[in-house]
Amino acid sequence: MEDPIRFDIWCIAASEPERRRQLEEFLSTQVPNRQIAEIKREIQRSVTNRTPLQVASGLGWKNATTILSVVKGFTSSQQLYQEGLGPGKEFKVSYCEKHNLFHGGSLGCPVCNDFYAA
Ligand SMILES: [Zn+2]
Repeated sequence: MEDPIRFDIWCIAASEPERRRQLEEFLSTQVPNRQIAEIKREIQRSVTNRTPLQVASGLGWKNATTILSVVKGFTSSQQLYQEGLGPGKEFKVSYCEKHNLFHGGSLGCPVCNDFYAA
């Protein structure tokens, strides 16, 4: 029996200094041992190249939707993925419009199928 699906959140950083600062602060609380210089570099890369960075992972659904609405305040785009999938792996994923979720194609949307960590 597989474990219920968890979720990851990816965002493109916003260029405004204030929103960058908020994202920086958020990321440093998410992963306490992460170096602030490394976080700043990742944010800079995301702003410059418009590439998504992972802002949270391994979340239950309720937590994922809550955090998604929080990070909307200080990032320029947000995507919700089934855990372990992510941008650049789109050929492997399908999208559920109802849940605004990218998920593994073969088994369908885990939220629609009621097979997810709450
Ligand atoms: Zn769904």
